[in-house]
Amino acid sequence: MQCPKCKELLTNSQLFGSLKADACTNCAGQWVDGDEYQQWRLAQTRATVDPMRVLRTNLTAYQVPAATDTKTGLCPVCQRILSRTRVSTEPFFYLEQCLSCNGVWFDQDEAAILQQLKLHDQIEILSSGSWQSQIRSAQMLLNEKEAVIEKLGIDIAQQVFELAEILTDQPNGDFAVAYLMRRFERDSPFMQQSQV
Ligand SMILES: [Zn+2]
Ligand SMILES: [Zn+2]
Repeated sequence: MQCPKCKELLTNSQLFGSLKADACTNCAGQWVDGDEYQQWRLAQTRATVDPMRVLRTNLTAYQVPAATDTKTGLCPVCQRILSRTRVSTEPFFYLEQCLSCNGVWFDQDEAAILQQLKLHDQIEILSSGSWQSQIRSAQMLLNEKEAVIEKLGIDIAQQVFELAEILTDQPNGDFAVAYLMRRFERDSPFMQQSQV
């Protein structure tokens, strides 16, 4: 079997302890057979994954994206173009899979990153619509947090985030949110007072 990225011959290898894989000694990528993956995956106890954690995981220990990540590859089994799924880490990378035989290609470090994110035994969720929308919401929340820090400074921002945490744990937290919203309405007595 040839490496989808650099055409070297793949050699027997293993991933995640017990999953049979074929590795490229040149680019350090790894190929996993679709049926092998499916069988192994069903034997795993899968963790609940948090999109926020995926976005905030520190990946400095890895080469992301791998040098070969931008290259489109052919399935080493059926020679079809591998389908690419964006993994929304910071920086992001693409996971490649053959839609015909379900084989998976991990460029260098991608398997280790997915393992750290606890996504390695549930890679099928990465391409699902619900996961993509969870990631988008989490990204929006992170952007909003950054905007609050930028506009108010870190000290006040920290207090706002702490208050948000406290209110999230309160069954009636929404009353406080309603109060704050009202407080900042243009025609509220509070705002008029401050303008006088
Ligand atoms: Zn290679
Ligand atoms: Zn294939």
